[in-house]
Amino acid sequence: MLTVKTPDEVLEIIKTAFLPVPDRTETVPYTEAAGRVLAEDIRATEYVPAFNRSTVDGFAVKAKDTFGCSDSIPAILMNTKEILMGQAAGLVLTEGQCAPIPTGGEVPEGADAVQMVEFTEDYKDGTTGILKPVAPGHNIILKGDDVYPGKPVLTAGRKLTAQDVGALAAMGIMKVPVARRLKVAILSTGDELVPPEQTPGPGQIRDVNSSLLSALITQMGAVPVFYGIIPDQEELLSRHVEKAVQECDVILLSGGSSVGVKDAACRIIESQGEILFHGIAMKPGKPTIFGKAGSRPVIGLPGHPVAAFFITHIFIRKLLARLSGQTLREFKVTALLSESVEANHGRAQYNGVFLEEKDGHLTAHPIRGKSGLITTLAGSDGYFCIPRDCEGFPAGTAVSVTLYEL
Ligand code: AMP
Ligand code: MG
Repeated sequence: MLTVKTPDEVLEIIKTAFLPVPDRTETVPYTEAAGRVLAEDIRATEYVPAFNRSTVDGFAVKAKDTFGCSDSIPAILMNTKEILMGQAAGLVLTEGQCAPIPTGGEVPEGADAVQMVEFTEDYKDGTTGILKPVAPGHNIILKGDDVYPGKPVLTAGRKLTAQDVGALAAMGIMKVPVARRLKVAILSTGDELVPPEQTPGPGQIRDVNSSLLSALITQMGAVPVFYGIIPDQEELLSRHVEKAVQECDVILLSGGSSVGVKDAACRIIESQGEILFHGIAMKPGKPTIFGKAGSRPVIGLPGHPVAAFFITHIFIRKLLARLSGQTLREFKVTALLSESVEANHGRAQYNGVFLEEKDGHLTAHPIRGKSGLITTLAGSDGYFCIPRDCEGFPAGTAVSVTLYEL
């Protein structure tokens, strides 16, 4: 019997039935942290910048010395020695003085503003004319303006990006606590499957899901572990699943998840622990099984590659995030449907789309074709969902497209 859940119920079960893995933190050099999930909040330990810096090439001044000046009545200030990059200012500015300073140079004590070189005039006699007044603080980034010791900079759960790595470098944080990469077992079952590099014989097809799922799992930041193409032999399959349960954090079993005689996934998962549910009220992807062996998720995915893809993108991604402590962020765009899409299954329907940007707005071209053919998904950008109680959307409907970008 299928105990069918709605997609929302499945998301709730992912939250309640699974906990973050206990031994999930490891430390990596900051240079290897991009793409990893931050395991603890990062706070600054230093001032950035560590000294008051000029943001322009120009002259450090006392702002009040420039008040009232103009092109016709410049403020004439005495030059001090030049401030050099990478060195302490080494002087204290007094009234009536200005110090030539480069972008990024240390603003000397006594100065409270910098005027851009474009608004100055060099009189070549040791004095400089300031042609435009500056307010205190102008063109200066103050010590600690970016961050100061104790300031929260990055929040645990975030997947670190290139700009985060840049911030870590700026703060001198060389070691980063991250969630270890989860190991995800992939088993593909079906008497008709041959490895992709083999030419299929009569009645045979290439195994798509092993490579499709491996690529998705890798994109999600976990490590796929392939256990091979296994024939529809319950005992053999069972032994492979048992091994995978011992070696991996998550087990994905592709194929055999329906209720046919040869469909053993349900019995096998049950023999490893428990079934949480069998069936999701969605299209594609209905014959999906969520189970548990101890605390480890064991998932029976539909063999249809498109269905396996949607289930993995929508639910397995959330499951991996739950286990590794990642805060997931989903990026959606609004686009106008180029043609009508029907739905009348009483199940939420997920449709892939190609996005096209034209005349200042996004158009979503829905994918046509049978759900079993992965080639129809190739090159697509994302998907939208037609709720279960809706008969479809007419052309021109504004749909919310979730991007496949992970
Ligand atoms: P199943 O879930 O085993 O009932 O399979 C459903 C459909 O998906 C059948 O047409 C299978 O031939 C096909 N299928 C199953 N596994 C794969 C796979 N790994 N790659 C490509 N097609 C598959
Ligand atoms: Mg099968």
